[in-house]
Amino acid sequence: MARKGLHVKVGELRSDIGVLKDLEITLGRIIEEPKPGEIGPTPFPSITDLRSWDLKLLKRYKPFYMPFCDVCCLCTFGKCDLTGDKRGACGLDMAGQQSRIVLLACCIGAATHIAHARHLVEHLIEKFGKEHPIDVGGVSVEVEAPVTRLVCGVRPRTLGDLEDVLDYLESQVTHLLSATHTGQEGSNIDFESKVFHAGMIDQVGMEVADIAQISAYNFPKADPDAPLVDIGLGVVDATKPVIMVIGHNVPPAVEIVDYLQENGLYGMVEVTGLCCTAIDVTRYNPKAKIVGPISWQLRYIRSGMPDVIVVDEQCIRADSLIEAQKIKAPLIAASPKNCLGLPDRTHDPAEEIVSDLVNGKTPGALILDPEKVGEVAVKTAILVAPRRKKFKAIPNVKGVIEGSKRCTGCQSCRRACPNDLPIPEAVAEAAKGNLDKLGALYAECIGCARCESACPQGLPLHSFIVKAAEKKLKEETYKIRAGRGAIQDIEIRNVGGPIVLGEIPGVIAFVGCANYPKGGEEIAEMAMEFANRRFIVLTSGCAAMSAALYKDEEGKSPYEIYPGAFDAGCIVNVGSCVSNPHIAGAAIKIASIFAKRNLYANYEE
Ligand code: SF4
Ligand code: SF4
Ligand code: SF4
Repeated sequence: MARKGLHVKVGELRSDIGVLKDLEITLGRIIEEPKPGEIGPTPFPSITDLRSWDLKLLKRYKPFYMPFCDVCCLCTFGKCDLTGDKRGACGLDMAGQQSRIVLLACCIGAATHIAHARHLVEHLIEKFGKEHPIDVGGVSVEVEAPVTRLVCGVRPRTLGDLEDVLDYLESQVTHLLSATHTGQEGSNIDFESKVFHAGMIDQVGMEVADIAQISAYNFPKADPDAPLVDIGLGVVDATKPVIMVIGHNVPPAVEIVDYLQENGLYGMVEVTGLCCTAIDVTRYNPKAKIVGPISWQLRYIRSGMPDVIVVDEQCIRADSLIEAQKIKAPLIAASPKNCLGLPDRTHDPAEEIVSDLVNGKTPGALILDPEKVGEVAVKTAILVAPRRKKFKAIPNVKGVIEGSKRCTGCQSCRRACPNDLPIPEAVAEAAKGNLDKLGALYAECIGCARCESACPQGLPLHSFIVKAAEKKLKEETYKIRAGRGAIQDIEIRNVGGPIVLGEIPGVIAFVGCANYPKGGEEIAEMAMEFANRRFIVLTSGCAAMSAALYKDEEGKSPYEIYPGAFDAGCIVNVGSCVSNPHIAGAAIKIASIFAKRNLYANYEE
């Protein structure tokens, strides 16, 4: 059933019995009856509605645990040793604890996307109104929200309709999280069933976020020819004031673009980004530039190019303020989820905040008003740029050589490095004046800086690597197709037959972050290999960026070589992380069209 609220406001009502002024009537929920036969068995499913199906799956695909930790420290009864057949003071065994931790992790993920969607929808409603229509592809996309339909059994038509879906999702996350309390769920299989539920609502939350922003910001709407945009450290024009946005929730970045355009400043300031905010701001304005995925954060900040750093939410380094201070760049925090200890300047006049940031009175400001972020970021960047003169935190060659001479060869950096890179050997060579070995580490370095934290000599090893690879860095100029959003119905119909007949071997999706040695390069290679074998290749988020970081002999990136239409041999960027449900949505639509499955509230089928 669709659950809707009705709110009626009347300025003045004249009738036979008198005059009523400022009349407001609110009806809690109206049950909107679906068409006969449309609704499936599980609208807005509770955490147990799909349990019997989950248990069937878990019986066939039994969970297997490789404990990443032998103890549980989650309550004051503990810590409890759970090795062997031991049980904790609450009676929980190792399998229960492992699945419980997985549920916790999934709740964090689901809550993050749902909270992201909530903030975004609230902001868009404030700007565009509750009645703003959901439109992700006009007549080309009849089913705008396949995941939401399938799970909740509703068809959201306006931004306001999405609030109902979010209410449901938030209640589910709370129930799931509560199951991880001490002395609640005791069965690992039931924990796993709840993990499935968390994954399901996570997809709905992401879909809500993306269809809201596509509709309101007019992002590419299921467009196979979405524009090609610049990506890579080398694409930044450092002769201009540079604003760097990091995170996942795009409104502050959109407001920066709007402020520049409305004030005739566009083209005078570089708008660059990292992570999903970067992907989404290029869906709004293809002239914005993407620097790279999450692992590019440190190297980009330390390069000194950004004059102002704006962080919103998710995947932002916890030390971003410290790193920003190293290059004397003011930082603006724009999300209540990531305040970074900064003073709340949301209600202060923009000019006052700009003055404090430019004069270094404060290293940063928390501004929880995207429009104000737009104005403050632009004005600050323009005023700060001539003062900073692109002050960088990366040493020059002499600094690398002299620093390397202080290395004692203790190997702590290598032990700390998740990729086991031979840093001590490279540093020893650098001490002799040869930076080649350091430079060679660049391709396998994920920019985590754990080596630096471990080094007893305090050497800025990641910066050494970046300096040694400077030439390669400047050559990082690639193209990525802006996230296209949904897949058109006609595209789904066209590939259905070939998929069934095996002419198209399958659909492959690259999602998430490639945080492993040569991760970026290998994503591009794998994507092209699958496309060459006629797979339909989809990408999103940081993986979409990684897939772009390659050039053939003609200097073309994969998105220039392979088409953006959902068909055999394509490489299609659907968008940021919250665009992932377009991938699941395509699969759902294939099942709906070709297996004639009901799409409403029918998750189990
Ligand atoms: S939750 Fe259970 S296993 Fe964990 S510390 Fe508390 S008593 Fe021990
Ligand atoms: S920054 Fe690079 S070299 Fe240092 S620990 Fe991380 S991956 Fe290893
Ligand atoms: S941790 Fe520092 S001192 Fe030790 S080997 Fe690495 S660079 Fe040298």
